[in-house]
Formats: sequence, C-alpha cells, structure tokens
Amino acid sequence: MKANINSFSTRASSINRALDQIGDKWCLLILQEVFWGVNTFTGMLIGTGASKGVLTDRLNWLQTIDCLRKDTTARHPVYHLTKKSIELYQNGLMAMVWERTHFSSPALDRVELIHNRCGKPFWPVMQCGHCDKTVDSRDISFKPGPGAGTDQRATKTRRRSATAAQSSSKTVYNNLINLLGDRWTANLVALAFHGLKRFDEFNQELPVATNILADRLKRLVNEGVFSQQPYQQSPLRYEYQLTDKGRDLFPYFVTLLSWGNKYCGTEAGDPMLLMHKPCGNPMQAKVRCDQCFEVLVATEVRFNL
Ligand SMILES: [Zn+2]
Ligand SMILES: [Zn+2]
Repeated sequence: MKANINSFSTRASSINRALDQIGDKWCLLILQEVFWGVNTFTGMLIGTGASKGVLTDRLNWLQTIDCLRKDTTARHPVYHLTKKSIELYQNGLMAMVWERTHFSSPALDRVELIHNRCGKPFWPVMQCGHCDKTVDSRDISFKPGPGAGTDQRATKTRRRSATAAQSSSKTVYNNLINLLGDRWTANLVALAFHGLKRFDEFNQELPVATNILADRLKRLVNEGVFSQQPYQQSPLRYEYQLTDKGRDLFPYFVTLLSWGNKYCGTEAGDPMLLMHKPCGNPMQAKVRCDQCFEVLVATEVRFNL
C-alpha cells in the first residue's frame, strides 16, 4: 500500500509514541477483538467492520511492531497477542470503565467481568502503587524526565474508512475508539491533561492545519469531553477545559503512557515523570480488582458478554 509520509517534530511523549504504534482506530478495534478472543481474519472482519484491505494493512502493521503473532499452523490462520500487546490489556480495561461510566447500550450493560483470583464479579480501578489511593487526574503533577526533548516523527496517510465502528456484541468501547481513534483528538485530550487550554497552545504543539484543530476542538466540546469558556471578548477567544467526563479518560492515557515508556522508549529515558501528589511518590499506576485489590492480568479475567 502507498503511504504518504510527512516528517515533523513534536515534544517527546510516550503517549504520542504509543499512539503512533497502536492509536489508529482500526488497530484499536483489532486489539479489542483479540482481547475478547476473536482472532481469525473473518471474525475480525465482522467484529471491526473494516474492509478487507484495511484489515490486511493493519494486521500487517501490528505484526511489524510485534503486537500480533500470526499462527499459520491452523487451517485458518489465527492471530495471537504478544508479550508487548498483552500489556495493553489494562488499557482496554480502562477504556471499558470509561465507556460504561458515560454510555449505555444493551451490549455494554450486559458485560460482567469475573476475576478468577477472587471468583467475584468486579470492576477495574486504578490506584497509586505506593499509597493505594484511587488515581484522580487532579492529584498528579508532571515534570520533564531524562528523555525530555523532541521526537522526529512521521505521519502516514493511510487508507481510511469514514464509517464509525460497528457495534458487534463484543466491542464494548466503540464510543471511545470512535473518539480517540482519531489521532488529533487523542493528542488534544493528552495535552489537556498537561494543562494546555488555548487554541494557540494546542496549535504550537501539534503539526496540524488550524481548520482541523478547530474541528477537533468543536468535536470534543460536542462530545462533552471539553467545556468551552471565553477568556477574551474582542476578538472572542475560548479556553478549553476537561469536563468530568474528559478527566475520567485519565486512567486510559496513563496506561498508554506506561506502555509507551516500556515499549516505545529511547535510551534517553522517560520523557516525562508523573508524581502522585497525595503521597509524594513517582506515580506507579496499578489497575486492580475492586473486590480483592489484586493487580489485574489478562489470564485471570473472564467476561460474560
Ligand atoms: Zn500515591
Ligand atoms: Zn478480585
């Protein structure tokens, strides 16, 4: 497939590096399917609503970055998670928590998670690994880490489809994927967690045309993730702030950031350090069962869908 590649530099960010690898809507949908055990080409075709071309392209990409492994010994090839992608499982759980908190659908409301360790239905919670307090985005401070600087990145214009994610029985965080599977929208939310508020501030950080930036900000306001307040009257200018619904996306981004630190890092070290203000320790987010408070791992969770 032909891809137009444009090169640009942005502030080094593990979230951006993670999004470069798996932040595309179709990659997120494919990984979601594999998390729930759908791992054949046909199964994913139905589950994601992707065209064959797009699905083939993204499956190849996910293998290139070592997030899927193709097993060709079966009559129909199946795709398995790797060590790298299985660690995105907590990211999927956090996506599901956000979706369930802010949306309702029969499929979503039916989902029950069972923790094999304690045998109980549970809900995932994100806690600080030091003080066990539930993580709230307002309790986190950020400072540049040893790997702070700029990243030279490439943006690929890949084959896209305008269709929204399908609502198959197993896709339980489609609203999140439809929103954050758009690259610029995901970047804007991540920057908002770093305290950016104004059009000009976002514009400085993102190599994107101003009309696209304005469109994505409007979308985030319409979706209730940002609220908009005027800070200047003539000309009229707005500040954008995360709403409660927006702040609730923090655990999703924290899991992406941790994964990006681990799998998309450079020798320079982490670009950014997070501090948990209530205990004063570096933030080590743990995704735990709200019944027994053990850390959740993919092999110990089952779903009733
Ligand atoms: Zn803490
Ligand atoms: Zn448990």
